[in-house]
Amino acid sequence: MANAEEGVAIVGSCNVDLFYYVDSFPKSGETMFAKTYEEHFGGKGANQALQTIKLSSSPEKVIFVGCVGDDKNGRSIINNFKEQGVNNPEKHIHVVDATSGIASITVDSQGCNQIILVPGANFKVLPEHVDASFEDIKKCKVLVCQNEIPFATTQHALKRAHESGLITIYNPAPFVKVENLSEVLKYVSVFVPNEVEAAELVNKDEIKNTEDAKQIAQELHSLGAKTVIITLGGNGVMALHNEEIVHVPVEKVEKVVDTTGAGDSFVGSLSYFLSCGFEMIQAIKLSNFSASVSVQGEGTHRSYPDRACLEKHKK
Ligand code: ADP
Repeated sequence: MANAEEGVAIVGSCNVDLFYYVDSFPKSGETMFAKTYEEHFGGKGANQALQTIKLSSSPEKVIFVGCVGDDKNGRSIINNFKEQGVNNPEKHIHVVDATSGIASITVDSQGCNQIILVPGANFKVLPEHVDASFEDIKKCKVLVCQNEIPFATTQHALKRAHESGLITIYNPAPFVKVENLSEVLKYVSVFVPNEVEAAELVNKDEIKNTEDAKQIAQELHSLGAKTVIITLGGNGVMALHNEEIVHVPVEKVEKVVDTTGAGDSFVGSLSYFLSCGFEMIQAIKLSNFSASVSVQGEGTHRSYPDRACLEKHKK
């Protein structure tokens, strides 16, 4: 990678994900056999952190701030981050009085998913946890938040990071109704909803075409987000940057295997590329590539591309 990395801080959720692979989703009242079952690390925050780490040559510059319970899953989440070389997980991941987060993910033969989430310790990530890590966070270039921890903590992290001059990325996933979106968007450099979240945030039914996406990007921009990137699945993204709207398509992939965590791959990659100083549209193109690799394999971070994969693509 030509550019020097300057560090990414992720404040968010971490879970153990339980994957059930089935032919089709069970109907109400139906019991069915799964084809296979697997357990993996997950949570939007952790997924994004793991994508950043996979691309990074300096994982010690990646900080993950979150909470786990005093249980087996919590210990394996912290150990996994240690193994990945992330910056001091024992300092930045707090053990609280709650069960560690768990997600139950059912994937059908089309690669579509249904997810039930037990937030547990993730709902105990507090502003003081952000403050406890802030000396290290402020050395980073980019801070990233999602919606799987209390909103007050997300808002606090974005505000402090913005005031310290970091690039702040807010991925409002899953959708949470926010009373005054402008209050948080004024601290956001790059706002990255998917098409469902983007429509819900402006009280629209859905995005049917690129014109709808353009209009909603503009609305979100007028609410305060400097750059808006709406991810559009296999259609890439609609980006509003420097007052210009650009559709950045993603290359067609041969076979979509599992789209779980594609958005997290995109956000984790974008964080990484912006931390390396890439210009926005170039960072988006590379992140589209990353996320398109992720839909071609099963699971979340297991299918995320690493540095070697990216280097091959750039040649
Ligand atoms: P989410 O996972 O949050 O629903 P999207 O479905 O919008 O997010 O996907 C995020 C990104 O993943 C897209 O912008 C694109 O870069 C990539 N992606 C998703 N689906 C496909 C696909 N079918 N083919 C290629 N890339 C895809």
